[in-house]
Amino acid sequence: MDAAIAEVRAIYRAVDERPIQRNCLQRRECCHFRLTGRTPYLTRGEALTAAKALRASGRTRMPARLDGCCPFLNAATGKCMIYNDRPFGCRTHFCAAAGGPYARHEIADLVQRLERIDRELGGDGAHVLHSAVSDALQELR
Ligand code: SF4
Ligand code: SF4
Repeated sequence: MDAAIAEVRAIYRAVDERPIQRNCLQRRECCHFRLTGRTPYLTRGEALTAAKALRASGRTRMPARLDGCCPFLNAATGKCMIYNDRPFGCRTHFCAAAGGPYARHEIADLVQRLERIDRELGGDGAHVLHSAVSDALQELR
């Protein structure tokens, strides 16, 4: 499991280093799922990585949010609690004002690596953020 998490982190570094121009204006709309109508889906390796980051922050359960925002969005600071380990979708989805999401062909190789890790961990594809990370937290116990 640790090797899978290390590979997921390497994929995150790789996508962050891609020279694809986007101009994020820090409006943080993308963390407000009710506003955007979109919720990130995580493969098993991403979910384990997010769960590990949450545990490292001293939490053992998914934070509760009733306002349609991502549970990882800190209500007090307005910042992502697991920013360094935020899922792939959070690194590749940009609002229209910021230049729009990455095109599939720009990141297809990295998506395929995440899918391979998912299969190796016995996963069955990506699941919606909340349930994917809740399951991963159980697995880390
Ligand atoms: S990509 Fe857009 S919605 Fe997301 S944080 Fe940046 S400005 Fe905000
Ligand atoms: S994981 Fe972090 S960056 Fe991604 S939607 Fe949630 S708060 Fe935003």
